[in-house]
Amino acid sequence: MAGRNFLFVPGPTNLPDRIQRAMMISMEDHRSPIFPRLYESLLPGLKRVFRTETGVPFIFPSSGSGCWEAAIANTLSPGDKVLASRFGQFSHLWIEMCKNHGLEVHEIDCEWGTGVPLDEYEKVLSEDTKHEIKAVLACQNETATGVTSDIGGVRKVLDKVGHPALLFVDSVSALASVDFRFDDWKVDMCVTGSQKGLMLPAGLGILCVSQKALGLTSSAGLKRDYFDLDIMLNANKTGYFPYTPALPLFYGLREALAVIEEEGLDNIIARHHYLAEGARAAVFNGWGLKLCAKEPKWYSDTVTAVMLPDGVNGADIILRAFKRYNVSLGAGLSKVAGKLFRIGHLGDMNEVHLCAGISGAEMSMLDNGVKVTPGSGVAAAQEYWRNNEPPPGLLVR
Ligand code: PLP
Repeated sequence: MAGRNFLFVPGPTNLPDRIQRAMMISMEDHRSPIFPRLYESLLPGLKRVFRTETGVPFIFPSSGSGCWEAAIANTLSPGDKVLASRFGQFSHLWIEMCKNHGLEVHEIDCEWGTGVPLDEYEKVLSEDTKHEIKAVLACQNETATGVTSDIGGVRKVLDKVGHPALLFVDSVSALASVDFRFDDWKVDMCVTGSQKGLMLPAGLGILCVSQKALGLTSSAGLKRDYFDLDIMLNANKTGYFPYTPALPLFYGLREALAVIEEEGLDNIIARHHYLAEGARAAVFNGWGLKLCAKEPKWYSDTVTAVMLPDGVNGADIILRAFKRYNVSLGAGLSKVAGKLFRIGHLGDMNEVHLCAGISGAEMSMLDNGVKVTPGSGVAAAQEYWRNNEPPPGLLVR
């Protein structure tokens, strides 16, 4: 097939060529005397991405889900209570994992298209006068619905009611794309994976852990081994790993952190917002369709989930986009399966690249009988981008 595949699933994301090249290495001995130099070179950049001075980053050869497990298994005991909200497939899966580990979850079911309900968190936490809730879970960016939640707001709620629960954040599809502040928001566990904003293949689960959370590992009663933070920390202290690390991904991560440093985290966040505004202009002003996200406060700058008119199956849109136009769009999952498609625009992306996703989605919708005006999505996105100042990362220097 001629031409390239245009990847618009919200992870894995597009890899800059230089990151891809950085991973083309011969295998090395991960117990050699020079290996610690590679591992230790990653930590300062990772800490800057998490915006932390006191948090400790852990790198597991796993995907993001492994770090969900590491977060709970290293700090909690069977029967412990956690507070969590469900508003999409990923917030749902983390809740299920907690239950499978024998935790008691105070679940708040929210409408899909909304996010972490701060008022309800405040109510539940203020009523928990005995402080039985040990951890509060928040999915910063629900990738399934294109909804971003206010994590700083969760911290404010905890502080307002004086609740000592740990704050666990899933930032898998937000970190290095949407504002995240480990220290300012006093986050205890931040879970992410390599295949989203970090512009790497899947394969690294990255977890940032607070000193408070690290202090709980010896009293945590949940069983763990592979994801045991103390075992990992003891090995990491010497510059090594308790098992075989994913060496090429480490070289890729070193390059990705350099790419991030060069553009600057604030500029990256601004670029994601600017691109997302163009995508939203395509949906609203071009196609006249709706987002899954119900209100502007929930709009995600990393993934745009587009609701389809009744009678149109999202799976058909995605299949046609892939087979006819070689464009990969994200599918609706679980409750929203078939009702929407998703355009992922996180990581290495610019306006013209994103036009390919908007255009591919538009052609596929037209082919499937959706009544949108040909060219209207790209025209509306262009209109936004041409009339608004671009962040520095989009300019060739
Ligand atoms: N959390 C969110 C918000 C995600 O989007 C994903 C995956 O897309 C996960 C968790 C699970 O991560 P992984 O697939 O890397 O295990």
